[in-house]
Amino acid sequence: MENLNNFYNIKNTIPNDVLLLAVSKTKPEQDILNLYQIGQRDFGENKVQELTSKYNNLPKDINWHMIGHLQTNKVKYIVPFIFMIHSVDSYKLLIEINKHAEKNNRIINCLLQLKVANEETKFGFSQQEIINLFQQNAFENLKNIKIRGLMGMATNTEDINEIDKEFGNVNSLFNNIKANYKVGEEFNQISMGMSGDYKIAIKNGSTIIRIGSSIFGERDYSKI
Ligand SMILES: *Cc1c(COP(=O)(O)O)cnc(C)c1O
Repeated sequence: MENLNNFYNIKNTIPNDVLLLAVSKTKPEQDILNLYQIGQRDFGENKVQELTSKYNNLPKDINWHMIGHLQTNKVKYIVPFIFMIHSVDSYKLLIEINKHAEKNNRIINCLLQLKVANEETKFGFSQQEIINLFQQNAFENLKNIKIRGLMGMATNTEDINEIDKEFGNVNSLFNNIKANYKVGEEFNQISMGMSGDYKIAIKNGSTIIRIGSSIFGERDYSKI
């Protein structure tokens, strides 16, 4: 069951131009419907199978966001309906998304995931890899994807200064790309900030915060 007070509290205190993405992974479809009924349309999931089954069962005007590591062999299952893929972490994956998007006659919003956390577990490109891709004009021929910006995940730590520094790094790279490379108006999104650190993320220019447990309660991984 979600905490609607928390939902409204977050929604009413963030700037209007920041998107509140409700991260519904592991949560039942009814929880999603409850928020849908009060106007929420953007939901995030991190597993392909769970995402496709929720897509099939729920209202078709939901914007589904893929926020977890995506394997190339599973791209085909989500491309027909996905609204945005936040977790693009290799060029190979991007080529695969483009290929299936073309088949489906769609253009898919993609974010490049920057590895900023000093943790081994986080996926993502290094700063230099992302700069190289822009330098090489690597997206020019991928007509069925749109690079909308960057995604970042901070280290899981209580150290506010560290989180602030990491989100600051995502923001600097974003501004660097905008200033130095040929990107369109649509390169305008920074996805960063979760339940514990979204305020620091917004301070550092986040445009999409991904909130799970504050809205839906703690996840129980033993049930799935
Ligand atoms: C689970 C998840 C979130 C939400 O985390 P909470 O701390 O529950 O808000 C955000 N982003 C990603 C990539 C996630 O996997």
